[in-house]
Amino acid sequence: MGKVFLIGAGPGDPDLLTVKAVRLLSRAEIVLRDALVSDEILALVNPAATLIDIGKRRGHKLLTQSEINSLLIAYAAKANSVIRLKGGDPSIFGRAGEEIEALVEAGIAYEIVPGITSALASAAAAGISLTDRRFAASVLFTTGHRASDAETVQWKRLVTAGTTLVIYMPGTDYSEISASLIAAGLHSATPCTIVSQASRPTQSVLHTHLAALTSHQSLPAPALLIVGECAAPLHLSLELTQQIREREKKNQEGAIA
Ligand code: SAH
Repeated sequence: MGKVFLIGAGPGDPDLLTVKAVRLLSRAEIVLRDALVSDEILALVNPAATLIDIGKRRGHKLLTQSEINSLLIAYAAKANSVIRLKGGDPSIFGRAGEEIEALVEAGIAYEIVPGITSALASAAAAGISLTDRRFAASVLFTTGHRASDAETVQWKRLVTAGTTLVIYMPGTDYSEISASLIAAGLHSATPCTIVSQASRPTQSVLHTHLAALTSHQSLPAPALLIVGECAAPLHLSLELTQQIREREKKNQEGAIA
């Protein structure tokens, strides 16, 4: 039985791969890759390797998760090593859990090689610090698939003004996310940054705020949404925090008087 390497390919720029990922890819025998992996990264794969595309395309799944698990196991039985190459980091919204479970059940050894997840690549692209201590005490990686009315309760539990939210898979209509977050108690002026195709030549960054999210067209996929006071360019964050503090001070003074 061969060993399976679950390798994070990062956000797209090959310079953001780990040295370990490059080394393993250059010696690969079999690579099962996702659609999000960029061509520049595929160019680093051993030309003699068998490359299998098991990604999703235009919303159509090419293979089910259990078919992918079976393929991994079947290839591991034939080769010394099999690489499962995933966009970003394998453990962040990457279904690594299901694949690991299947490998463990089949008695196959595995190793995770982490990659730069798109939350971090997007923050870097936008030039913002996700935990700037003046604005945020925590970061929450979550997904837009949960942006329904029923989830407002969940947002309420998780979201505070001091939390930076990173929303993977925000979908094509941001209005539901905007409404849910405002209903959960976030100020409508809370800064939002949308980063599309982070680290790729086609990268774009859009700064806006929660109430205005509704009027924005979605940016080209893959894109993610960062929400929180540190999601604005720094001078705007400082200005906004100042305004919020002054408003709170006035409210307190009003309450005392
Ligand atoms: N495992 C991946 C996430 C897979 S889920 C990771 O760690 O990044 C797919 C989602 O990731 C996309 O819908 C998008 O929200 C985000 N994403 C992936 N690559 C991206 C990129 N280059 N720029 C912005 N968002 C990206």
